[in-house]
Amino acid sequence: MDEVLLPTTVDELVEGRAAHPDALLLAGGTDLMVAVNAGTLPVPGVIALRAVDGLRGWRREGDEVVVGAATTYADLLAPDVADLLPGMAQASRTVGSPQIRSTGTLGGNLGTASPAGDALPVLVALGATVELRSPGGTRSLPVGELLTGPKRTALAPDEVITSARLPVARGPQQYRKVGVRNAMVISVASVALAVDVEARTVGVGLGSVGPVPLPAPDACAFAVDAVDWATGALHDPGAADRFGELAAAACSPIDDHRSTAAYRRHAVRVLAARALATACPPATGAAA
Ligand SMILES: Cc1cc2nc3c(=O)[nH]c(=O)nc-3n(C[C@H](O)[C@H](O)[C@H](O)COP(=O)(O)OP(=O)(O)OC[C@H]3O[C@@H](n4cnc5c(N)ncnc54)[C@H](O)[C@@H]3O)c2cc1C
Repeated sequence: MDEVLLPTTVDELVEGRAAHPDALLLAGGTDLMVAVNAGTLPVPGVIALRAVDGLRGWRREGDEVVVGAATTYADLLAPDVADLLPGMAQASRTVGSPQIRSTGTLGGNLGTASPAGDALPVLVALGATVELRSPGGTRSLPVGELLTGPKRTALAPDEVITSARLPVARGPQQYRKVGVRNAMVISVASVALAVDVEARTVGVGLGSVGPVPLPAPDACAFAVDAVDWATGALHDPGAADRFGELAAAACSPIDDHRSTAAYRRHAVRVLAARALATACPPATGAAA
């Protein structure tokens, strides 16, 4: 195949994918074209997602939001969806520049499966699932099962990502990242936090500190006890620091050209502590 397919429906896309499993799937192209232009990626053909309306946008289904794979970061910053998914909106705001946010998509972030992808820790913190379609039907995977390693996914050759399913926020959410500068930069470390005041749970996702975005179950269990669920505040202001330490203990970072493992672990400790202290500010007068 030395051609470009331009499906207009999800069914056509799935059919085209099955017929051409080697072709490159092109969403916004903000990752893909970097590799193509560098000459590091053979191009046996292209299937463009641009005209598949059914992959773009979001809808609410009960207590969940279903976000189409071709939905851009700019789309996710619209106030109506940002109200339902505030952590995702915060993460989207940190991605690249306005041009990248207008073009790059959630499905592309998942497809690239970089440990630094900004949407991914949010999906982990929220316990999101990802929907995949092939001619055999639809399957749904927790995000932690889809992402199997750096730049590796459990996607079968005939599958496409069609959407992600995220719970509607039922409490404060935070996304914090550090990079080598303040803007237009891939993260050196990131932390997503989702507090659910109805279920009385806390979710965490850590970015750039492991081969895939990582959960931090010990930190989450600690936070559940540290929050006064009647007020949403921390019982003890010192709990945020302990939470940060437990989040840092969940990391398995590496040294690379962007940072050292030690700095990454330190950054997670600080980011996680700040995220919890902001989401659940200690009550005034609480013991230090
Ligand atoms: C200047 C610049 C700055 C950037 N800054 C950031 C940043 O701050 N944070 C960040 O996280 N990323 C950043 N990126 C990376 C990129 O913008 C994101 O990863 C984006 O989400 C990729 O989406 P896309 O639609 O452009 O994907 P594409 O480049 O089109 O595709 C990426 C990969 O996903 C696959 N894919 C796409 N859609 C699907 C689908 N529906 N099903 C299966 N596979 C699919 C493609 O085949 C490809 O392998 C930056 C990139 C650039 C060039």
